[in-house]
Amino acid sequence: MSSSPSTNADTAEIFDVIIVGAGPCGLAIAARLRERRPSALFTDEEHARYSWMSRHANKAAIKIKRTGQVKTGSDCQPCQYGPSILVLDEHGNDFLAKWKSFFRKLEIKNLRSPMFFHPDPSDRDALLAFCHEAGRSHEMEEIVGCVGKEVSKHKKKRRMNQRGGSTKSAVEVDERDRKDYFTPSSSCFEDFCEACISKYRLGDGLIQQGTVREIEYTMAPGDERPLFHIRTNTAQYLARTVVLALGPGEPIIPSPFVPGQLPASATHVTDATLPKLLSKDLLSKIRCGKPTNVLIIGGGLTSAQAADLCIRRGVGKVYLLMRGHLKVKPFDVDLCWMSKFRNQQQSVFYTSDDFAERFEMIKEARGGGSMTSRASKLLKQYVQDSKVIMHTHTTVKTQCFEESSQCWTIATEPPVADLPQFDHIFFATGTKTDVESMPMLQPLLANHPIKSIAGLPTLNEDLAWAEDVPLFFTGKLAMLQLGPGAGNLEGARIAAERVSWAIEDVLKNSTDVKVDGEGQRLWDSDEGYVSGIGSKFAGLSVDSE
Ligand SMILES: Cc1cc2nc3c(=O)[nH]c(=O)nc-3n(C[C@H](O)[C@H](O)[C@H](O)COP(=O)(O)OP(=O)(O)OC[C@H]3O[C@@H](n4cnc5c(N)ncnc54)[C@H](O)[C@@H]3O)c2cc1C
Repeated sequence: MSSSPSTNADTAEIFDVIIVGAGPCGLAIAARLRERRPSALFTDEEHARYSWMSRHANKAAIKIKRTGQVKTGSDCQPCQYGPSILVLDEHGNDFLAKWKSFFRKLEIKNLRSPMFFHPDPSDRDALLAFCHEAGRSHEMEEIVGCVGKEVSKHKKKRRMNQRGGSTKSAVEVDERDRKDYFTPSSSCFEDFCEACISKYRLGDGLIQQGTVREIEYTMAPGDERPLFHIRTNTAQYLARTVVLALGPGEPIIPSPFVPGQLPASATHVTDATLPKLLSKDLLSKIRCGKPTNVLIIGGGLTSAQAADLCIRRGVGKVYLLMRGHLKVKPFDVDLCWMSKFRNQQQSVFYTSDDFAERFEMIKEARGGGSMTSRASKLLKQYVQDSKVIMHTHTTVKTQCFEESSQCWTIATEPPVADLPQFDHIFFATGTKTDVESMPMLQPLLANHPIKSIAGLPTLNEDLAWAEDVPLFFTGKLAMLQLGPGAGNLEGARIAAERVSWAIEDVLKNSTDVKVDGEGQRLWDSDEGYVSGIGSKFAGLSVDSE
């Protein structure tokens, strides 16, 4: 490893866990590491009792039935449970800095995902409860075309036959679950995450800004076991375990455009270095009353959001090119994969032990860019008003940027007649990630090689690089283990659950652990409860001390 720019790793603190990436998935990991009561394992009744205890037990006066003694309430104790954590993020030293910048840039009012996908490990319904408690239910938006009447077995079979054997039904969600199929407003979601950050004491000092450049897992002379050596652009850190929560990867620039050689008038919608969607040049042309034409490439929700923003800012005409047809879906992932608890598609996915087969399922479930029916209606209205001109099944064949006019000339396949010159091109063409070509992972790939499929690592079930390398993954890079929703909020809590258990196992061997006279691990009531040791009812009792 090359020498550190500023910190000497020999004298540095060894963190139990370093999380790289402070997006929603990184937040879910940090919060889960500080949460003693893993929500996913509880039934609804147990969960309700635990949630009540964790929220109110310290504040409420409780009468102990056996002794009649009344335990008076005190203020909530700060949460101090868990391993030592450091979070590194290249975008800022706050959680969700990058997420917030995307949402501000595109002026997105509501999330696409339902209420039960969020990073808080304590309660599946925490976001829904937060919205209601804060009197902000009016900010929630119902997800259109999602919840319907319960469909009988026979009707389902008939529909399936009509669709030539496809198991995907038009309506998969039961009417009784309607309350869950709303989306939170962006600001409500952000406030909810802030509340989660403060509940788990994940605020001040936990995050340091830095771009991770290299991760090595080595044993220095005199050490008992290997450690992770992490080098960022400014410092060097040591950790016993590392979690990579890096997000969806780099923006895709489609051919014939050449990434890295684009003028300022061709930008990717999710380019995190640009805080505003519309450039100064484009805005000044609009202000001067010049006719403006913008080309947006891509058929997903972000292309519709970008088109909407361009029109609202005064762009004359928006041309929208998509290589397929306009797909309308409530979520990125097919509805039959989405549910609050468990679902059949996910079970089929978990049953397969062939990563290539899993990848095919992922591809089918995600199926390229799609937009919500609300966004498609808005787009169609713009098309009707001649503000947007949409060409489906069309790609860019040739491109030329003229310095003199600062405009683009484009030819398409199939050819579209009378295309104007474009003042700006926006790529809404998604992102890609490839574990094999990530510079930070090269030392690990060299010393502990693992296979990948289409850029996704073949992790073990704990989402670890290997049994003997406690480098864990969450988000899109964990997709081959978690399924098609891994890169969305859906995957955040599921990954956090798996990773936190595995981290606890690793740390048991390297930090102080309570043991009895025979060297057996001592469990407190909560740990015993969740690991199925001892009486489960003991875990539900309120301590009389
Ligand atoms: C406009 C938009 C809207 C979306 N809306 C939704 C939605 O409503 N619901 C939904 O489920 N999904 C949505 N998504 C998908 C969304 O990307 C994910 O749900 C979410 O961001 C995944 O969280 P994450 O933590 O994996 O990734 P991110 O939020 O991208 O966070 C990754 C973090 O890692 C950091 N990082 C990356 N590389 C390094 C490095 N080398 N060193 C240090 N730090 C690094 C980044 O700075 C970033 O902060 C949306 C995506 C976009 C672009």
